Amino acid sequence: MVEVRAVHKSFGALEVLRGIDLQVRTGEVAVVLGPSGSGKSTLLRTINHLEKVDSGRISVDGALVGYRRSGDKLYELREREILKQRTHIGFVFQNFNLFPHLTVLDNITEAPLAALRRPRKDVLATARALLDRVGLADKADAYPRQLSGGQQQRVAIARALALEPKLLLFDEPTSALDPELVGEVLAVIKDLARQGTTMIVVTHEIGFAREVADTVVFMDGGRIVEQGPPGQVLDHPRHERTKSFLSKVL
Ligand code: ATP
Ligand code: MG
Repeated sequence: MVEVRAVHKSFGALEVLRGIDLQVRTGEVAVVLGPSGSGKSTLLRTINHLEKVDSGRISVDGALVGYRRSGDKLYELREREILKQRTHIGFVFQNFNLFPHLTVLDNITEAPLAALRRPRKDVLATARALLDRVGLADKADAYPRQLSGGQQQRVAIARALALEPKLLLFDEPTSALDPELVGEVLAVIKDLARQGTTMIVVTHEIGFAREVADTVVFMDGGRIVEQGPPGQVLDHPRHERTKSFLSKVL
């Protein structure tokens, strides 16, 4: 379970998150929608402590993100501990962010070889199984530049899964793709949803949200304006801001 409580975040004078409360239960998928600049990426980044919150708390499966409690005081984790914690929270970016100089297989095994204490043979076997799962078993030895955007993004998903995360965060995973490649990436994410992967997905793909989301979250101006099952938020939005946003993206 992911719990975000009263999270505030500013960049200088700009308050980007203005009190965010969000819960995502284990095995559920939350889809986050909202206009550009509403704070969606910042929210995702605070969840794995790529950004520090100014106030409020975030926990994943009961563990505070970025902090350790001692008595009634909180101490920020050390860099090593933060990195360790981050291995449990997969992040898939808009622009894939694969290592260009590593093969597909090495992209997937690099982090687990460093972070998980597993024999190399097992890590390799898992990586190959993951490649098969995202439909790229034949691309293990290719380099990212030899792949289409959709294939690169599927490798990025396999790479995130290789660390056996408790939670997967996606920041507009299909918005850099040519339209005909969007479906193959969404199909992989749908498959993960069916298998009970806990995910928070920022996307403007409303059809995907309708099909896969347990909860749809609409953000605007650093706040969650509206949140609920897709049938409610997408088909019967209560707030004018949600209505006008949906009328533009639908
Ligand atoms: P988009 O749909 O365009 O990706 P978003 O909802 O993801 O938008 P954020 O990227 O979270 O929005 O940004 C929210 C606001 O915070 C924006 O005004 C942005 O310029 C600002 N911002 C984000 N990161 C930083 C930063 N590191 N330093 C300063 N300002 C930032
Ligand atoms: Mg963003």
